[in-house]
Amino acid sequence: MNLPANNPTLTSWVEVSKESDFPIQNLPFGVIQVGEGKPRVASRIGDFAIDLKSLFVLGYMENLPFVLEDFDTNSLNKMMLKGKMGTRKLRERLSKLFQSDNTDLQGKQHHVDQVLISMDEVTMLMPIEIGDYTDFYSSEQHAFNVGCLFRDPNNALLPNWKHIPVGYHGRSSSIVPSGLDFHRPKGQKKPPTAEVPVYGPSNLLDFELETAFFTYQGKPLGETISTAEADDYIFGMALLNDWSARDIQGWEYVPLGPFLGKNFASHISCWIVTLDALEPFRIPGPVQDPKVQPYLEYEGDKHIDMNLDVFIKPEGQDEVSVCHSNFKYMYWNMNQQLAHHTVNGCNIRVGDCMGSGTISGPEEGEFGSMLEISWKGTKPVPMPDGSERKFILDNDTVIMRGYCEKDGVRIGFGEVAAKVLPAT
Ligand code: MN
Repeated sequence: MNLPANNPTLTSWVEVSKESDFPIQNLPFGVIQVGEGKPRVASRIGDFAIDLKSLFVLGYMENLPFVLEDFDTNSLNKMMLKGKMGTRKLRERLSKLFQSDNTDLQGKQHHVDQVLISMDEVTMLMPIEIGDYTDFYSSEQHAFNVGCLFRDPNNALLPNWKHIPVGYHGRSSSIVPSGLDFHRPKGQKKPPTAEVPVYGPSNLLDFELETAFFTYQGKPLGETISTAEADDYIFGMALLNDWSARDIQGWEYVPLGPFLGKNFASHISCWIVTLDALEPFRIPGPVQDPKVQPYLEYEGDKHIDMNLDVFIKPEGQDEVSVCHSNFKYMYWNMNQQLAHHTVNGCNIRVGDCMGSGTISGPEEGEFGSMLEISWKGTKPVPMPDGSERKFILDNDTVIMRGYCEKDGVRIGFGEVAAKVLPAT
């Protein structure tokens, strides 16, 4: 898809360093707060937030389908209700305004001072009011690894796995923005040697390296969204750390699946990178064998080449890289996930969040959870102070970063980071 705002040769009159995740080709959306001020909708270029409310008030959004209330608010939902064509036009306008040769805003210092806010002065808030949260399980290597660890390496994938994008309904109330520290969850667990369950803090706290996509308003209940239509219903993406308490999960999950071992906290990165900005990084997906049902067939390149990294930062120590993976390792792509989700007539709404599932690559070093990295605790990871990690300890910070790179353009997400505080 040829979108002018994606042109790799574009440069901006705002200085952006080569290593930045936020060149003029990105222009993600988020919600910012400055001091005690009211939250408002923003974009970002380099080390500056772009205050979209101020841009609107100053008259730079003429002939766009937006009103002041779309930006003078604490979530992107109102803006997203304008749909793909609305947000695409908005990003194209921002691209124009900040291009090197455009003088509409450039040089008008009294306006620039209102519109560009140094990120040092900005607090990032939860960007989207999430209605429903669904988490998929779409990385083959992850599903294979978990099957090996808990069942049988010879039949690691369950019989349905290559026929349906497996998923479950999660909980949106505990999806929180990067930087919000949280306490180790407590609950029921049954250690293998115990005869009865015990109650207490989770001893097997884990991260899950995932991405999330967020939807526009869907169709009415009873209608479906095809793989061909899916792009028009996906606004953008973020990094997602879908924390898991493996001991709580292990005791509770039969027969109905994930519950309290999963819903105590999930963190997202705060800048939503539009699907439009990610278009240049599309690549073919894996050959799907056996052949999928017709409603899951798709045309074109629907996977995305996106580098994903996880680091553990113990208190007072340097961060340690524990995983380098890539979103391209997904077996099922987002179009297939959305088509499957709606094939029964289930309706999606503006701001719904869909998790990819843990994204593991085929090699060691590419596994997206401590469960796999430490191979259920048998391969501990050394830390700078000589200690080791099988799972995540109190006061550890887990940091995930992600970016796409091609033709000298780097489109990134920033990071999603959160520190685990001791159980209360
Ligand atoms: Mn998950």
